[in-house]
Amino acid sequence: PANILPKPSWLKAQPATSENYLSLRSTVRELGLATVCEEAKCPNIGECWGGGGEGDEHSAATATIMIMGDTCTRGCSFCAVKTSRKPGPLDPEEPEKVAEAIRKWGLDYVVLTSVDRDDLEDQGSGHFRKVVMKLKEKHAAVGKNILVEALTPDFRGDLNLVENVATSGLDVYAHNIETVERLQRRVRDHRAGYSQSLSVLEHVKKVNDIALTKTSIMLGLGENDDDIRQTLQDLRNIDVDVVTFGQYLQPSKRHLPVKEYVTPEKYQEWQEEAEGMGFKYVASGPLVRSSYKAGEFFLKNLIK
Ligand code: SF4
Ligand code: SF4
Repeated sequence: PANILPKPSWLKAQPATSENYLSLRSTVRELGLATVCEEAKCPNIGECWGGGGEGDEHSAATATIMIMGDTCTRGCSFCAVKTSRKPGPLDPEEPEKVAEAIRKWGLDYVVLTSVDRDDLEDQGSGHFRKVVMKLKEKHAAVGKNILVEALTPDFRGDLNLVENVATSGLDVYAHNIETVERLQRRVRDHRAGYSQSLSVLEHVKKVNDIALTKTSIMLGLGENDDDIRQTLQDLRNIDVDVVTFGQYLQPSKRHLPVKEYVTPEKYQEWQEEAEGMGFKYVASGPLVRSSYKAGEFFLKNLIK
């Protein structure tokens, strides 16, 4: 069909073959963890799981783990996750099980993320908090540290629920704004919103001045340069530390079509512009996902 743009060559991923990656993959199967890396067929899996490749002294294996089930109460038009108004109940053993599995896996940096659970009284924030605390506790018990990033729902802007997660001992609080203000309604579920997401990120800084805040913007949805600039300014105004840009890819024909494949050169321009605005870390590229090689960067630069 005429409205489907051909995929450009720069979106082809590298094959994942490093030894570290292969051993991590067999471990993850045994441990029964659900990773976004695999489920979303993320093109960066070799780099993230492999931790930067052999011979890299800053190597830091990163993975993104899904908690609170695989079914979301929302239906964002860019997202491939299953939707239901009433997903199954939470597994009360999950904090213990996930924390133990991640400890055995031996990651340096883990991103925990979840579906949105509008059906639960606390929208799952208490459960999220428990998983982070267990993870830190289990690693500390064997004399290790793991850096934890929580990539969280908006909790419908309920700042008490945000605080619950923000004060759990995490290192990075991530919440994605996803797109520019003008396109929010078209792209995200009607319960999400631009100013609501900004208020979440702003609150985290108020209750935890050690953790970094982070957000991601998908490009190729029909935004223009001014829209993006305004979003970056709004994020800097509330002191967001980290921003990532990546290409939106349509997961299926039922999802929002891609309006544009943004060129690698343009991503480079956004990288430089955002760095110039004072973000502490910027990852920008067609294949960048919010958690792209996060561990490598954070261990090297930001977290002591
Ligand atoms: Fe997907 Fe998150 Fe939207 Fe749920 S809230 S549909 S998981 S993007
Ligand atoms: Fe996993 Fe994120 Fe890396 Fe993709 S970018 S492999 S989802 S950690």
